[in-house]
Amino acid sequence: MGGHADEREHVRVAVVGSGFGGLGAAVRLRREGVTDFVVLERADSVGGTWRDNEYPGCACDVPSHLYSFSFAPNPDWPRTFSGQPHIRAYLEHVADTFGLRPHLRLNTEVEMMRWDAEALRWEIETSKGGFTADVVVSATGPLSDPKTPEVPGLAGFPGKVFHSARWDHDYDLRGKRVAMIGTGASAIQIVPAIAPDVERLTLFQRTPPWVMPRTDRAISAGERWLHRQLPFTRAARRSLLWGIRELQVGAFTKHPNRLGLIESLAKANMARSIKDPALRAKLTPSYRIGCKRILLSSEYYPALARPNVDLVASGLKEIRGSVLVAADGTETEVDAIVFGTGFHVTDMPIADRVVGVEGRTLAEEWKDGMQSLRGATAAGFPNWMTIIGPNTGLGNSSMILMIESQLNYLADYVRQLGLLTPGGRGGADGRTALAARPSAVHAWNRRVQERMKRTVWNTGGCTSWYLDANGRNTTVWPGTTGEFRRETRRVDLAEYEVLRGRGVGVGSAAAEVPAEVPVEAVIVEAVTAGTLTVGAEEGAA
Ligand code: NAP
Repeated sequence: MGGHADEREHVRVAVVGSGFGGLGAAVRLRREGVTDFVVLERADSVGGTWRDNEYPGCACDVPSHLYSFSFAPNPDWPRTFSGQPHIRAYLEHVADTFGLRPHLRLNTEVEMMRWDAEALRWEIETSKGGFTADVVVSATGPLSDPKTPEVPGLAGFPGKVFHSARWDHDYDLRGKRVAMIGTGASAIQIVPAIAPDVERLTLFQRTPPWVMPRTDRAISAGERWLHRQLPFTRAARRSLLWGIRELQVGAFTKHPNRLGLIESLAKANMARSIKDPALRAKLTPSYRIGCKRILLSSEYYPALARPNVDLVASGLKEIRGSVLVAADGTETEVDAIVFGTGFHVTDMPIADRVVGVEGRTLAEEWKDGMQSLRGATAAGFPNWMTIIGPNTGLGNSSMILMIESQLNYLADYVRQLGLLTPGGRGGADGRTALAARPSAVHAWNRRVQERMKRTVWNTGGCTSWYLDANGRNTTVWPGTTGEFRRETRRVDLAEYEVLRGRGVGVGSAAAEVPAEVPVEAVIVEAVTAGTLTVGAEEGAA
């Protein structure tokens, strides 16, 4: 801990993480007139998963004009699907354009966050000292901590080992015998990118993925000119990309049998490149398309047809020296192992570092499965909100749409806190907190899980990172992005208990609230928008 309470910097909001979620939250807070906040980031630059994942071939499966903030449009996207360097540069640009640099605390890893029930604020220990905050926005993301399986013998492997999200660019793969473990979205981009360079590539496939072609192309200078000169053309393009995906959702959530047609297209895609029937059989999934994320690549199958690429249709069982032994007994000697084995999604490590009321961690609260209220708040963790929380993931569209819905919720949360705070300063000041009612959390999750029963993710006959250790789907949103937008437009105070503190330590905090916060404007806006319903406060308190 950084030392004495009064030595710690107090802020109204501490945002954890500076990927799309964290930077988006920072922009939104500023727009709401909240300037007294920090963004805590463990790395030395912004970008989140788009900073960490710099493996060869890393790119996004959602078109560029939809995979970007609506409030920060980029008419100059060079390709229909962006590569990682462009998305990372975009996020750096967002940090500059919206004046976020002064809020960033880089190389600052959150070690522990504890709710102080007396002072009604969060105590945050970081690698660079302590902070206190009225509100915490946890934007650490589900694809943040890499997962490497505990394969017997791995510690004794004499060669090079790394995870797709921690690529070692100093290691030269040329002329090496390389094993790629996994066939998820990361692995199928890495395989075609490195196959031409390595001497031999052996791909360990535990479960074959469904792969559809990816129609990536350069966006012409003419299109870009048009998007710059006539912004409605860019907006129309985004709307079209969004609308097509909204129409697809029903097949995933209500009518998985309709996805059979897509399976035929995916099989035809495979047949174009894979002429060997035995290899085709190994590559053909036995579960409904969409159950796992549908992968997009026009280069994956051609790469598998290369003479220097082998497919082992079996998981990795153990390692004996430099020999990899598959579950089916196949033995392969290699110089390097690349794990494309995904992330800690349903068991995210940050949950061990958040301690709520009665000293319980979020991981303990979520031991039987992650649960939140509207994907944002959790019972027992007042004034704590997460971006891309439980059941906010998507199978077929842009996560930026979901993040922006959550930013609406965050904005209203901060507004409502301000209105509830005695002396109304347009924001929290350590005297008021909102605590999600357990009954509201349960009601929300019952609804979500009821809808989940018919979805392809639960009925499609596969296992995936969407499901937790108990087989419960706590990651995906079982509806359209439009529905989620409507569900998160406002904070319903009936779903929260309003906690009143005794004003411990508010003196300095209140003094730091910047004068430019237009309190009256916020109140008028909230009242006219109908967010302040008379009686709700009494009912909730
Ligand atoms: P992932 O989807 O979780 O895939 C992990 C892969 O590793 C699976 O094929 C899994 O096999 C395999 N695996 C795990 N343990 C194994 C073991 N012991 N032996 C053999 N194989 C093992 O991870 P990811 O590919 O990094 O992707 C994660 C998510 O990131 C994606 O779903 C997507 O949301 C996002 N992403 C997106 C893009 C894009 O937009 N193009 C690119 C990369 C990542 P099983 O299938 O049998 O479990």
